[in-house]
Amino acid sequence: MSFIQEGISLVAQTDPEVAQSIQRELDRQKGNIELIASENIVSPAVLAAMGTVLTNKYAEGYSGRRYYGGCEYVDEVETLAIERAKKLFGAEHANVQPHSGAQANLAAYMAVIDPGDKVFGLSLAAGGHLTHGAPANASGKLYDFTQYGTDPVTGLIDYDFLAEKVAEEKPKLVVAGASAYPRIIDFERIGRIAHDNGALFMVDMAHIAGLVASGDHPSPVPYADIVTTTTHKTLRGPRGGMILCRSEFAKKIDHAIFPGTQGGPLEHVIAGKAVCFLEALSDDFREYQHRIVRNSKALADALLEKGFSLVTGGTDNHMSLIDLRPMGVTGIDMQHRLDSVRITANKNAVPNDPQKASVTSGLRVGTPAVTTRGFNEDDMREVAELIYLTASRYDEKKNEIIERVKALCDAHPIYE
Ligand SMILES: *Cc1c(COP(=O)(O)O)cnc(C)c1O
Repeated sequence: MSFIQEGISLVAQTDPEVAQSIQRELDRQKGNIELIASENIVSPAVLAAMGTVLTNKYAEGYSGRRYYGGCEYVDEVETLAIERAKKLFGAEHANVQPHSGAQANLAAYMAVIDPGDKVFGLSLAAGGHLTHGAPANASGKLYDFTQYGTDPVTGLIDYDFLAEKVAEEKPKLVVAGASAYPRIIDFERIGRIAHDNGALFMVDMAHIAGLVASGDHPSPVPYADIVTTTTHKTLRGPRGGMILCRSEFAKKIDHAIFPGTQGGPLEHVIAGKAVCFLEALSDDFREYQHRIVRNSKALADALLEKGFSLVTGGTDNHMSLIDLRPMGVTGIDMQHRLDSVRITANKNAVPNDPQKASVTSGLRVGTPAVTTRGFNEDDMREVAELIYLTASRYDEKKNEIIERVKALCDAHPIYE
């Protein structure tokens, strides 16, 4: 697309080194099959919105009550983003300022609990996120997190264990949501467990926000007091975060973002969010989300046919978690092999993984990005075959796999 190339040329006039790296990254995205479940390929409109003069504007505060003059136009942009987000998810209140998913979560905690308070979160090992109480993360240091997990046999969230533990420990907050969980999460049930025991309920729908917008995953909004998300995963917007909540928490949430944890909002990114939400309100977007899930199921079925083992035995959403142990290759080795044949995915721990976190026995594969570039279910079966060949006959087949990856990417170009 010429404006993308023009942008790189403009950078090159001042800074050839950075321009060259951007060009290489563009070429990588065009020529690689992107299976990282948290990534996507934004529209030219979202991309262009981020590269605008809105980056020049300071706008600490909120629309109509900013700390600086000259905010009338960024107010318009931010208000559009907020109104569209509320409409898209049926939420009472939206804050579109979080710089990222992690920032959104930190602010949400700050809004409703105090340091030292008891919280429940899905463990990292079971597919949860670092910001749900991992010891290395601020959430784990500031709050007293108890981690719940998945059933070792089924790989599914152990709701009974959760109910029992919440009744016993009476936390202030229960957090649900995951980064590596291939099944529907029963938000209604977890919400009931939380509320029956006097806890607030927060859902982090970072990975599945697009599926929630389209109805491919049940919405947490009716059941949760607070819903946080990223905008750059299935939602296919700019890199950033957002918080939705019931009106009664609106003031606290807004205060926890600014001045609580952030300074000036990134209005150029918020413009990208506004464009993303407009796109997400369309029938095309809903159809796109349906295709993500169909592609994900086609990939999962084909992988199972090839002899791979999948955590929970399959998928309901945009991702699968492959247990590589039957193939005799570790997560990190598989990730490196796939990199060398231009397929991008990430190693991921499987439940009770015998390998350490830097090695792992699993691989996470997702379909949001390839679906954006037009891959269909036949293409997913070809991708499964290429993953299989990479796992089982890498040395012998490497060059052939590279050729077949190129054929798929050439058939579905991006930013042409
Ligand atoms: C990706 C993710 C986040 C963090 O988002 P960042 O924008 O990378 O900070 C938080 N929670 C969950 C569940 C995620 O998957």
